[in-house]
Amino acid sequence: MYDSRCKLEGYINELDKRCGVVAQPDANKMSGRASSEPRSIATRSAKREGWPPSDVFVVQLKSRSISNIEVVMKFVDTHTHVYLDHFNDDRQEMIDRALEQGVDKLYMPNIDSSTTDAMLKLELDYPEHCIAMMGLHPCSVKADFEKELQHVESMWQQRNFVAMGEIGIDLHWDTTFKEQQIEAFTIQTNWAKERGRPIIIHARKSLDLLIDLVQELHDDNLTAIFHCFSGTEVQAQAILELENVYLGIGGVVTFKNGGLDKIMHAIPLDRIVLETDAPYLTPKPYRGKRNEPAYIPLIAARLAELYDCTLERISESTNRNAEQIFMKNRQM
Ligand SMILES: [Zn+2]
Repeated sequence: MYDSRCKLEGYINELDKRCGVVAQPDANKMSGRASSEPRSIATRSAKREGWPPSDVFVVQLKSRSISNIEVVMKFVDTHTHVYLDHFNDDRQEMIDRALEQGVDKLYMPNIDSSTTDAMLKLELDYPEHCIAMMGLHPCSVKADFEKELQHVESMWQQRNFVAMGEIGIDLHWDTTFKEQQIEAFTIQTNWAKERGRPIIIHARKSLDLLIDLVQELHDDNLTAIFHCFSGTEVQAQAILELENVYLGIGGVVTFKNGGLDKIMHAIPLDRIVLETDAPYLTPKPYRGKRNEPAYIPLIAARLAELYDCTLERISESTNRNAEQIFMKNRQM
């Protein structure tokens, strides 16, 4: 996974230059750490002489580190399917890489009854880091969707979850069950509102329809994330008008022709959260490969560029937003 590290290094070095961030070339010797160890991208020097004021960060990669550096930046991956088979061969290593990058909270949206056990097992294995959600994904809404909804309901009766997700409408591959998808979305959104829990919305070829539905269902009890937002500025504005509704920003923001980079200026930092949607939607420079939570800082670094601010500010704002979303009205 890490053979492309030099490419990543080039990418971050380029970011260093553009953001005025200082790199530490001799750090490996000083730290005594093996060069094969993955490193945190986000670190800060507290004591270095002549170091500019505290807002300057060392964006470091590979084996660069210095002895007085400690990792201070944390990130949250608000949407990651790390329980899927794609990670069967290196799940432990993949989570270690995320932790090395400061990505220490992984929120896992469920898909359907076939993925529940794997997701809950991972939550048991990493209770500090992996947090389960429960909901029926629109791609799993078929003729038997009522049975699948019963599964969701019975899981919520057995225990609480941080969010209802992921739910929504997907008309990309198949429109046969469009009406059932709308029904499943509405039912699950109402369940979430009754429980005071947020919903995680999946919209594919259905964003306007979902914006309309959320406008209808919106009230003081509704908190939502439009996961992996990749709509237009007009669609973003319509969402931003709804209180407690946020945009999940993922790898698309790093794509040259993703379009999202052009509209981020219109989206306030206090309305976005970070996500990978791993194993899908891999950010640059790994586009086309398997995605994983360790790549969250690449998305954050691109946002720091677009908002013309420090990586720390992105980390702080998005962490605060995630905390507000997932802790709000929490009755656990
Ligand atoms: Zn997803």
